[in-house]
Amino acid sequence: MEKRDYYEVLGVARDASAAEIKRAYRKLARTYHPDVNKEADADQKFKELSEAYEVLSDDNQRARYDQFGHQDPSQGGGGFGGAEGFGDIFDMFFGGGRRQDPNAPRKGQDLQYVEEIDFMEAFAGVEKVITIPVEEDCGTCHGSGAKPGTHPETCKRCGGSGHINVEQNTMFGRVVNQTTCSTCHGRGQIVKEPCETCRGAGRVRKNKDVRVKIPAGIDNGQQIRLAGKGEAGVNGGPFGDLYVVVRVREHELFERVDDHIVMDMPLTFTQATLGDEIEVPTVHGKVSLKIPAGTQTGSRFRLRGKGMPNVRSGHHGDQYVNVVIITPKNLTDRQKELLREFNEISDEKGVEEQHEGVFSRIKTFFTG
Ligand SMILES: [Zn+2]
Ligand SMILES: [Zn+2]
Repeated sequence: MEKRDYYEVLGVARDASAAEIKRAYRKLARTYHPDVNKEADADQKFKELSEAYEVLSDDNQRARYDQFGHQDPSQGGGGFGGAEGFGDIFDMFFGGGRRQDPNAPRKGQDLQYVEEIDFMEAFAGVEKVITIPVEEDCGTCHGSGAKPGTHPETCKRCGGSGHINVEQNTMFGRVVNQTTCSTCHGRGQIVKEPCETCRGAGRVRKNKDVRVKIPAGIDNGQQIRLAGKGEAGVNGGPFGDLYVVVRVREHELFERVDDHIVMDMPLTFTQATLGDEIEVPTVHGKVSLKIPAGTQTGSRFRLRGKGMPNVRSGHHGDQYVNVVIITPKNLTDRQKELLREFNEISDEKGVEEQHEGVFSRIKTFFTG
């Protein structure tokens, strides 16, 4: 790909002042930084921008670029270099990326655990003991990673700070950036004789039992935060938190919708036709329900307050009972005979009359 002209990249004139170049770069950097801009080519644009700025903000490099363009002979044919470390420049604008002292206390990791419970446990609330693997300071070396009786040595390369300073040219002049020390991997210390329990890591994995109170009314996917039940902190920092995500198993009869419960209730066609008083299961126990004569399939009855408790307010939702009328199968001869007789009487005066609208529309459909 042909390299774009640096002035063009920054959108400034060839005689732009240093201040104009700086302003243009700041503005575009905010637009194209990959952390901010999610467009596919933002990364590429940002690199191009950083490279253009690096050259044009340096008087010597700019003069050479003005004379030779991208083909600077002093650069060995490779042209101007890329924009290594542009992340650090960005950090100065937006205040991120400060490196931590490896010896400073740090909070332990937050953990997440998924616990599956029954529908009725969600209704009533339940207490569970869950076993989670957590990382803790090694009890043998108390987190130092060194064999008991020995001590970790301070890293000579970084002097125990865990990072190394690197000087860089930026628009602000010469600035010092920090990178993690590769000798001690940021720990600031080197273990000569590692602890046998943790093999020098200073941390061990342990299974920990945690008691979780799951409140009544909890819904599928809701989570409970247990402060301080996560992983142990580093260098005496506080424990992380444990998040228990609750999965509620499906019930064979009940379906939860918000705090309401929906269920299908089968009725025989005689019950639906003649009416009946039936017992309906709810999470609160059996409830009696009057089915009026002539109930249609798909009818819905509401049992007020027979739903799930709201996990926060404790207020109960309702239960909705959807009627499903069961067509009888495998009839005896006697049953068939009675139904045929029923049908004959119905032809004279009955079902059709009550549903004139639908029946006549169907008749019209067939006869045109
Ligand atoms: Zn150890
Ligand atoms: Zn070091």
